[in-house]
Amino acid sequence: MDDQKKVTELYHTLHSHLPSEPALRVKTIQSLLVEKGLIQEATIDSWVQAYSEDIGPRRGAEVIAKAWLEPDFKQALLADAAQAVDELGLMGKAVGHLKAVENTDAVHNMVVCTLCSCYPFALLGIAPDWYKKAAYRSRAVREPRQVLREFGVELADEITVRVYDSTAELRYLVIPQRPAGTEDFTAAQLADLVTRNAMIGTQRELSVEVA
Ligand code: FE
Repeated sequence: MDDQKKVTELYHTLHSHLPSEPALRVKTIQSLLVEKGLIQEATIDSWVQAYSEDIGPRRGAEVIAKAWLEPDFKQALLADAAQAVDELGLMGKAVGHLKAVENTDAVHNMVVCTLCSCYPFALLGIAPDWYKKAAYRSRAVREPRQVLREFGVELADEITVRVYDSTAELRYLVIPQRPAGTEDFTAAQLADLVTRNAMIGTQRELSVEVA
């Protein structure tokens, strides 16, 4: 093998193992925080574990099911979602303020973070990749109906689309419409119907078929 080939091969080997630049930065910040005694490795590990394994959209789904079943809770959720959810012991300090926005026959709500990826982690877990992509972040505000169509949501013209732009201070949770034919469902059965995308607003109709 000639030298040039060797160099090319080495280059590719290195690049397939080196983390991308943001990942490197995160690792550096983490190392510094640990080194300066500001945070412990174990704390970081437990946060990663909590948000990737223990906390997921099921939490949000339970909140939605409760809102469908209990009008008082729904009113409290719409009035001050952070407080209502905090009273369920779900919120912790990780979310900041939260606003719940309700879909109706006339309105469809959709959530984006145009700046980065602000998301109600404590209720929905880790954000999906598409939520963080520049395409979604810019197009959700420019052409929400087209984006929704790509997610399989065909909205009638008379339905108003409201797009909410999240920030670190204020995040949003969409309350989807309760599907017909679920009058006898328990809270757990209702929660089974609520998907992550429905709570972001990239899905509108919920299926009553439980997987
Ligand atoms: Fe953000």
